[in-house]
Amino acid sequence: MSQDQVIRIMCPNLGCQRILAVPSNARGKLVRCKGCGTNIRIPNQRQPAEDVPAPEQKSEEAA
Ligand SMILES: [Zn+2]
Repeated sequence: MSQDQVIRIMCPNLGCQRILAVPSNARGKLVRCKGCGTNIRIPNQRQPAEDVPAPEQKSEEAA
């Protein structure tokens, strides 16, 4: 399943911001936005620092 993973990336063009779905094998490559033609670089790895907050610190606040 990991081979057919699809990466979703948003076009950085503020006038476009189209969500592009590219195959995972496009990592490290440039893809062209179908909407505006901007070349977008697909990051090689996931960026957990930006995507998901690191679940390291457990906030044990009693609600
Ligand atoms: Zn675009």
